[in-house]
Amino acid sequence: MSIALEHVNYIYSPGTAYEKRALNDISLEIGQGQFVGIIGHTGSGKSTLIQHLNGLMKATSGDILYDGQSIYAEGYDMRKLRSQVGLVFQYPEHQLFEVDVISDVCFGPKNQGLSEEESEKNAREALELVGFPEKYYKQSPFELSGGQKRRVAIAGVLAMKPKVLILDEPTAGLDPAGRDEILDLVERMHRERGITVILVSHSMEDVAKYVERIIVMNHGSVMLDGAPKEVFRHYKELEAVGLAAPQVGILKRIVVIDVGEGPVVMVNPVILETSGEQTGDEGCLSIPGKAGQVTRPNYVKVHAFDENMEEYEIEGTELMARAMCHEIDHLDGHLYVEKVEGQLHDVTYEEEE
Ligand code: ADP
Repeated sequence: MSIALEHVNYIYSPGTAYEKRALNDISLEIGQGQFVGIIGHTGSGKSTLIQHLNGLMKATSGDILYDGQSIYAEGYDMRKLRSQVGLVFQYPEHQLFEVDVISDVCFGPKNQGLSEEESEKNAREALELVGFPEKYYKQSPFELSGGQKRRVAIAGVLAMKPKVLILDEPTAGLDPAGRDEILDLVERMHRERGITVILVSHSMEDVAKYVERIIVMNHGSVMLDGAPKEVFRHYKELEAVGLAAPQVGILKRIVVIDVGEGPVVMVNPVILETSGEQTGDEGCLSIPGKAGQVTRPNYVKVHAFDENMEEYEIEGTELMARAMCHEIDHLDGHLYVEKVEGQLHDVTYEEEE
């Protein structure tokens, strides 16, 4: 199983006053067994994108290949595609409509052409899989709690034995416990059944813990695409579009510098301004045995938080400026301090007598 998008564009109501470009030249591939998170603000194009993946919406231009075959080719079996790429809508109410839970979950397999018996077998299996209690099988799906409704909606898709499970904001409206239950369930589905899972969310926090790949959407385009660690490395860009990286796995960055006047604590320091130049010998306390001649700014202005998380700005010159650049650089790679020449090299010190 693989889904590939090639230069997909989608425009709502083209040629009218309501024309809206919702997808802008999207190219990406999702392979068998991946657990992918699609993240982005409301309006960034997530829903539009996923509805393309099972052919519910047709690209204005570009192509979509499922297992290497264009889904837009003449005679392509869209029905089959829809049963292989299952989509669980954001609001389970949009998906549930039968008189009781079991009939609801049977709907998909029946629609696939399975017999009554087979459909019920698949439905029961799916309900069991999502941990839905049997005593409520005959209950109206509309009388269930939010979390249970969602389980039924997921079971309804799983009953068709899809290869890909797409969930649009599966935790919307759930309390934290309900949210964890649903996400754990999806994770189990992925781990035990090897189903490809595409999880759509506007919350980094939700997906970061589970997925192996994050696709960040912004204004209809793919802004970032990679393993969570790689994506979070771009935290400045993410912050700029209001998608702060979650705290999981990312500690607060703390720098303490003491150049002789007592320690200065900088939490999450950001260099705002640099000027001047100084060249000198530099060693590194964190990595002993590294030293060299390095040219750095002679003036640095930093924005940071103190021990009480109060914001402040601090300036430094000469040794302080050098120390600030060195230590803040340590944390961020050369993100802020472009004006650095020279590198620290391995050195061996003579043992002192
Ligand atoms: P998301 O799922 O990330 O919230 P959507 O895919 O729903 O984003 O929307 C992408 C963009 O397309 C938004 O600007 C939205 O206003 C617009 N849009 C969505 N649905 C329609 C529609 N039926 N008609 C016109 N514009 C739409």
